[in-house]
Amino acid sequence: MLGHKSSYRLIVNHNFKILTTMAIYHIKNRRGEHREDNWIRFWEEKTGLDAGQCHVLGCMKDAEDGAHVNLVDSDDKKTYIVPMCHQCNCQFGQEFHVVGPLVSVDGNTILP
Ligand SMILES: [Zn+2]
Repeated sequence: MLGHKSSYRLIVNHNFKILTTMAIYHIKNRRGEHREDNWIRFWEEKTGLDAGQCHVLGCMKDAEDGAHVNLVDSDDKKTYIVPMCHQCNCQFGQEFHVVGPLVSVDGNTILP
């Protein structure tokens, strides 16, 4: 295991076409560089997925930003990108549970 707390649950993906198993991550939202539109495209290019809805659990808004987040209670100190709506992304310092994948800002690590 990677050391971070994650659990797995069955969810319907954003297009409601397939059922898939994805990881849930406990993250802390941090202030990123102000190129959010590019960061969400960065995430889509790295994952090959559509960002779809905000990845914060329980939020049903459309994803607009590529949020900069850190894992909570983890030895992994990398900064990751995950799609969020603008309202969630503006809550700097807030902790959320989000659905993966997470893409590290250097593009070298993708957590499922
Ligand atoms: Zn949201």
